[in-house]
Amino acid sequence: MITIKQFIFNPIQVNSYVLSDETKKAVIIDAGFFNSIEEKALFDYIEQNQLEVEKLLITHGHFDHVLGNKRLHEKLGIELWAHKADEKLIQKMVSYAALFGYKVEPGLLPHHYLSADEEIRFGNSHLQVIHVPGHSAGSVAFYSPEGGFAIVGDVLFKGSIGRTDLEDGDLDVLLSSIYNKLYTLPDETVIFSGHGSSTSIGIEKKTNPFT
Ligand SMILES: [Zn+2]
Repeated sequence: MITIKQFIFNPIQVNSYVLSDETKKAVIIDAGFFNSIEEKALFDYIEQNQLEVEKLLITHGHFDHVLGNKRLHEKLGIELWAHKADEKLIQKMVSYAALFGYKVEPGLLPHHYLSADEEIRFGNSHLQVIHVPGHSAGSVAFYSPEGGFAIVGDVLFKGSIGRTDLEDGDLDVLLSSIYNKLYTLPDETVIFSGHGSSTSIGIEKKTNPFT
């Protein structure tokens, strides 16, 4: 069974997730930690639970979701798996962050490109990659059919949807990703978004004013 630990990191309040199972193998999704206090909180959790982190995943390449990747790669030697279409966002993250008033270091580039429908394995668990462009071209969701949850980044939020005014953002494409990919998951699927509270597919189908 997958255990999900959520951290809220950096001034943009990104949800960072550590997923682990009974084998103590783990993956980290959207490691957004920004300073040494946040970094320590993440490493303390990994150490206290004796986790062996196998890979780093990102839902997309916006700077607030990738801030801790370089440090994790240096400390743990793990690879970054990301969709190729968002690599250029990471390459440009220093100037993107500056637009929002943040000074950041250059980001870690992917070692492995995620493809749509790829299956990611760790321990006894697996996650399905679902390509959900629209917020960015390389946005992906990580879906656990057994766990009944999906980590969807900035595509869908409780009561809202991702912004589409940034590079490669496209409202029609985003809505298509939501209707044709996320809303085809079972209603009870718990949705963990890139910011804010969790929700479910059924709740959003009924109450989300943007869909
Ligand atoms: Zn984003």
